[in-house]
Amino acid sequence: MRLLLKDCEMPEGFRERFITSAYRRAYSTPWECVKSLFYINNESFNVWSHIFTTVFFVMRYSTLLALTQTPHLFDPFTLPLFASAIGTFTLYSTSSMAHLFNSISERGYKICFFFDYAAISLYTFTSAQAVFFYTRPTNTNWIIFEIPSVYMSLAATLSFIATYSTCKTGNKVFKYGNLLRTISCLVAWLNCTLPFIVGVTLCSCHANSSTSCVAFSACNSASVGYYFRHAFCTVVAGLMYSTRLPERLLPGRFDLVGNSHHFMHVFVALSTEFGLKLFEFDIKHKRSWRQREGAWADTTADASFINTVGAAVIVMLINAGIALWFSRSLKSKESVHEK
Ligand SMILES: [Zn+2]
Repeated sequence: MRLLLKDCEMPEGFRERFITSAYRRAYSTPWECVKSLFYINNESFNVWSHIFTTVFFVMRYSTLLALTQTPHLFDPFTLPLFASAIGTFTLYSTSSMAHLFNSISERGYKICFFFDYAAISLYTFTSAQAVFFYTRPTNTNWIIFEIPSVYMSLAATLSFIATYSTCKTGNKVFKYGNLLRTISCLVAWLNCTLPFIVGVTLCSCHANSSTSCVAFSACNSASVGYYFRHAFCTVVAGLMYSTRLPERLLPGRFDLVGNSHHFMHVFVALSTEFGLKLFEFDIKHKRSWRQREGAWADTTADASFINTVGAAVIVMLINAGIALWFSRSLKSKESVHEK
């Protein structure tokens, strides 16, 4: 039995546009999917890139946790970091599993990616939590920066909308589906970086003023540099995903390596790293700076288990619920182990 097939040998529901070869057998069993880890096929790069990314971020968050130097594990200063870790690990592990098991059935293919979308939305929410608690400016008079529950509610709503719209457009063949998915994720991302952007554009540097808004990491050029790199990688990832370049120009040439999805995986991982560096700066320096100057308000003082880890788990369950709801609405004739 041949392991690799051409697109014309695959049922419609398994085909990726402009990818013409190296498909795994349709209706594979879960064990066959696991075995596909060990031979080159057109999902190998997608699976392995995010397995390595997951391992990398497990190590990265462990070192960040050590940097916080808090007296106990559930200190308000570490809680947003835990929430962010939940989102990051969920995103990269779900993505690699979705790519690994998507040849089980046409229905399974869609279900895998509904959960992948849900994980992306959870990740934008937990990133928003970390950016909010570590980098937000103080004294802005912006209600969304003064009351955590207001900002969290907005971030959660945008994350649900992103999951709903991506599952909705992924469910049907829709001409502008990719673009719509990209826009909904872009809006959630803009909200996620808002606390930092406001700090850079509107607020004065450091404390000493009790009346006007003040920012911490926004005053540091290294930090702003990380933000630009993070934004660049996110935009490139979104553009490559929505345009399907370069494989659109040379179908079949980039089946194993170098297609838009591969670039998207790499750029998303890079954008996560630069985003992490952004609040790593706050974790490293804010406390000592505050102790020295005495004027800097502690932006993590109002972090609690409920509005960090608790909120992340609730948002995870609701996003998973949306993905499950779309999964159940798929036609049952495309059953998971159909032969
Ligand atoms: Zn992917």
